Amino acid sequence: MTPKNKQQFEKAKALIPWATQTNAKRLNPNWQNMPPFIKSAKGCRMWDIDDREYIDYRCSLGPIILGYQYEPVDKAVRAQMQNGVLFSMASPIELRAAEAIIKNVPWIEQIRFMKTGADACTACTRLARSYTGRDHILTSGYHGYQDWFALNWPNSGVPEALRQFVHDIPYGDIDAVDHAFDAYGDQLAAAIVEPYDWNDLVGKAYLQRLRQRCDASGTVLIFDEVLTGFRLARGGAQEYFGITPDLAAYAKAIANGYAVSAFAGKKEFMQTLEKTIITITHGGETLSLAACEATMNILREEPVHEHINAMGRRLREGFAEIIKETGVQAYAGGLNPAPFIQFDYDNEEENLQWQNKLFSQLYQKGIFANHRWFISYSHQEADIDETLEKMRTAFREILSS
Ligand code: PMP
Repeated sequence: MTPKNKQQFEKAKALIPWATQTNAKRLNPNWQNMPPFIKSAKGCRMWDIDDREYIDYRCSLGPIILGYQYEPVDKAVRAQMQNGVLFSMASPIELRAAEAIIKNVPWIEQIRFMKTGADACTACTRLARSYTGRDHILTSGYHGYQDWFALNWPNSGVPEALRQFVHDIPYGDIDAVDHAFDAYGDQLAAAIVEPYDWNDLVGKAYLQRLRQRCDASGTVLIFDEVLTGFRLARGGAQEYFGITPDLAAYAKAIANGYAVSAFAGKKEFMQTLEKTIITITHGGETLSLAACEATMNILREEPVHEHINAMGRRLREGFAEIIKETGVQAYAGGLNPAPFIQFDYDNEEENLQWQNKLFSQLYQKGIFANHRWFISYSHQEADIDETLEKMRTAFREILSS
């Protein structure tokens, strides 16, 4: 860590537990050269507080789908700012953003806005419990820090009594789906699942089984599309897999980085809002909704996903070439919007060491990535090629060290 970053980090740690608001932004002690603070970003590049430049493949952990400071989105926000940020009654932008989303995700019949992914997931499970009158839920994947999901953290601060109602299963495990439904089917209000976990295995059969079992037992199927929505495809995992849930949560790529999320779905389930309460003061905050409308329009009118897929394919194919050239035991995997390199030695410790060395080298060379490499509309061929050259050098340096 450079002296300026280190000084800032020590000061921040004293005042802000974790020195960040987000678990995934905490420093990994095994990844050297990782900058703890980013002061600006534009397009697919960002700069740390020492003015070091990085090509960014984390995309703010998912929200940046078009690119940082994407002018048409920021322009829509500035235009909305002329009218005000939040009003004493609903604003017309709420309807415009809702319509813009539904044009891209046509299975949605009704939608409401929230602020975070955890909010949206919580709203979905609340509706499902209210709709079915049942307490149990099946979960799969990460859904946020809220009580019904944080049970597995040590000293979670969540009442133990809740544990009996939450049944977590691994992604893609069809037997686990059957087990959970055999044991609790008639008590399950909802199955809330990440429809894709960004690993190699693509779980269409898994989602199909969930759909069947939910239908048979009167359980509400919820897709947590917080990360897959607008990224895996314009219509998210629902479009990609061709399987439709009853409710879904959207957040990250919904407004190119502005803070808004949504829960949405079939009217029959959304109408449960007449019976229960889900309300937040900032749900109709207009700047993020203007960003959402602009983002949705660009996703529909421009070849965003074609571009992301092409760049992701180029990156993954480049990874594969480098692996072949260097003879390192690894493979390039992942779907086009988020490729990755997986080291493939028999010894897990060796895989971990390779990964630690690679990320440490990449940060030092100005490439900012994590296990899954997210692509935005602003990544161009030259950025991918520069990345691959640096990756090639990193591999060679690690091999000769
Ligand atoms: N669901 C999924 C699939 C996520 O990836 C995340 C965030 N990583 C969340 C829910 C929670 O979102 P937030 O941090 O905005 O509350």
